[in-house]
Amino acid sequence: MARRTKIYEGKAKILYEGPEPGTLVQYFKDDATAFNALKKDVIDGKGVLNNRLSEFFMTGLNNIGIPTHFIRRLNMREQLVRACEIIPLEIIVRNYAAGSLSKRLGIEEGTPLPRPIVEYCYKDDALGDPLVTEEHIAAFGWASQQDMDDIVSLALRVNDFMSGVMMAVGIRLVDFKIEIGRVYEGDFQRLVVADEISPDSCRLWDLKTGQKLDKDVFRRDLGSLTDAYAEVARRLGIMPEQAGNGTGPTPIN
Ligand code: UDP
Repeated sequence: MARRTKIYEGKAKILYEGPEPGTLVQYFKDDATAFNALKKDVIDGKGVLNNRLSEFFMTGLNNIGIPTHFIRRLNMREQLVRACEIIPLEIIVRNYAAGSLSKRLGIEEGTPLPRPIVEYCYKDDALGDPLVTEEHIAAFGWASQQDMDDIVSLALRVNDFMSGVMMAVGIRLVDFKIEIGRVYEGDFQRLVVADEISPDSCRLWDLKTGQKLDKDVFRRDLGSLTDAYAEVARRLGIMPEQAGNGTGPTPIN
């Protein structure tokens, strides 16, 4: 059997050449990393859950007119996406203080923020994805002013959508990270939400108990990561009530 061409391998996903020009296959691995890959593990079933969850969120965004790279899910671990040129920024939107914002500014985790705060980190593993400002972004030409206006607008729309979807199932969207890609259509470029949206890239807290249902379970050793992700999937109606971690024969299709 012919071996397919690997385009890129990251910490949690692999990109392969897609079946048609302008497409890629995005494969979700079971690898979990945190603290700039200082902490690593392989967590059975995580990739299956994130593939399914990211499909759910990206499809919802597409359906309300927020463009994403997502085309369709291919199987348990893979989805077909549009090839795009990733802008080298992590776009972070925060509704409540947590993580690095709490550390940096000494604000207790869980404190509601006066308004959603959008932050940017420069995507560079060797540098540990440092926080940057729009000044850096403009000066180094990572994105134009028009791109930045579009990115903020996309990020806030994603925030409204994700906050609403999660609130409806009793989960607080504390913060999240997205990546944005450029796709070219003739002479024009369009910005689309790319990469993934999953509990790996969001902070999700149970509304009533505050229980963490996201990658902090791994970062902070709080229990089973797949149980937490499966709980999110179950509440969203993605997995049957009794499903386990998504690796068994029945749950996801
Ligand atoms: N985040 C991410 N990838 C990164 C850094 C952050 O997905 O490389 C997400 C993280 O899961 C959280 C949000 O972005 O939902 C804000 O993360 P924060 O800056 O607080 O990072 P921490 O250092 O606490 O992971």
